[in-house]
Amino acid sequence: MYHSDPTPPVHTKTLHLQRIKRGQVVVCTVLSHMLTGVWTHWTGTRTTPCYFHEPTCPGCATQSPRRWKGYLHCWNPSTNSNGIIELTPAAATELLNALPPKSSLRGLQIRLERTKGANNGRLSCSVIGRHPDPDSIPKECAAWPTLSHIWGDDKQPPLGLVS
Ligand SMILES: [Zn+2]
Repeated sequence: MYHSDPTPPVHTKTLHLQRIKRGQVVVCTVLSHMLTGVWTHWTGTRTTPCYFHEPTCPGCATQSPRRWKGYLHCWNPSTNSNGIIELTPAAATELLNALPPKSSLRGLQIRLERTKGANNGRLSCSVIGRHPDPDSIPKECAAWPTLSHIWGDDKQPPLGLVS
């Protein structure tokens, strides 16, 4: 069925970018096979990609703090909505450590929770199950078009794909 499908995977779609807020719990199904990891800079007002692979990176030049961010395309079956969810290094590590190396993340049911309390509570990510029929869930979309749109930057930095 998949191989005879004439529609190529969608890679240009801009989706909703979801950051889990303090005290918020999100349960969703992962559509991505792999996690997209990106090094970014926080300039004090906005996030920009880090172009560490190039001779000059504007963020490195101004010594803006460097932060790694992880992105997953996820789907909420109860509302049939989907979007890109942003993970912290700790949440991404927790997710990847729950699985054997190099296993696909697609179809995993995860629970994300950001603790209350401090300004930026800790984001946790636990695997609570696996979709019984991964072939039936929506197609995966790449994270970059959404990030490019949010960051207002169309020059793609190195994206690390990990699973
Ligand atoms: Zn940089």
